[in-house]
Amino acid sequence: MTDQDVFRFAPSPNGHLHLGHALSALFSHDMARAMGARFLIRMEDIDIARCRREYEAQMLSDLAWLGLSWEQPVRRQSEHFETYEKTLGKLDAMGLLYPCFASRRDIAAHAAPGQNDPDGAPLYPGLHKSLTREEVQRRKDAGEPFALRLHMEKAIPLAREQSGKALTFCELDPESGGVETIAADPARWGDAVIARKEVPASYHLSVIVDDASQGITHVTRGRDLYAATDIHRLLQTLLGLPEPLYTHHRLLCDAKGRKLSKSHKDKALARLRADGAGPADIRRMAGLS
Ligand code: GLU
Repeated sequence: MTDQDVFRFAPSPNGHLHLGHALSALFSHDMARAMGARFLIRMEDIDIARCRREYEAQMLSDLAWLGLSWEQPVRRQSEHFETYEKTLGKLDAMGLLYPCFASRRDIAAHAAPGQNDPDGAPLYPGLHKSLTREEVQRRKDAGEPFALRLHMEKAIPLAREQSGKALTFCELDPESGGVETIAADPARWGDAVIARKEVPASYHLSVIVDDASQGITHVTRGRDLYAATDIHRLLQTLLGLPEPLYTHHRLLCDAKGRKLSKSHKDKALARLRADGAGPADIRRMAGLS
């Protein structure tokens, strides 16, 4: 089994699946089946305040109804915080992390106007990058919550030194089978959050740890996560983790061109199911044959 390709669909159970998720899940599942690859589902539930088991159960029911099958058990990220903590320890030992106590409001107030990360959030202006050891201790003793940020200016040259080459990722076009090598530019994210204030992980950290521990060879996901691949490749390189192939698929948008989200209730699979749509209708609505 070891040389078999492995795909995954990794939703966050913080709401109901909608047509956009159906596209993503079917896209990955179809590609895996066409290649005789394994297919896994992973619940990205590190946001323990917003994720719920009821959503997870509904998601699995919708996916089975759509015709997907997957290996058991389904990995839940909330059951692996210890693993993420160990990985944080490695990055910390490399001198690449620092605590940041700033709130979103502090960051927005100090950010340079017009300087945003690829998701459109204000670029972190380095507020707590140079706190003294004493100041950090004082704030920790006072119980102030803190995130851990990646020291980008140190991380990028270190990754380069370790790998001996420029940071890139490989994007596979499933239509042609062609693979394009893309230059990764993690600096445009600024000092990204690697562990959130409430949990010892972030999306970027847990996704690369899990893709490696589950032996994922093909990461398929929406185009909205294309730029995040820069940080994922940086972390994989620093931690000596394998490099998967990436395929970022088109997104489903509403009439105003906005990406479908939980707020588009009429596009929820549970609603469409209840209204009498069948799996073939969902495929058609998602633009899949
Ligand atoms: N959990 C992410 C989402 O629901 C997907 C992560 C990934 O595929 O890398 O958007």
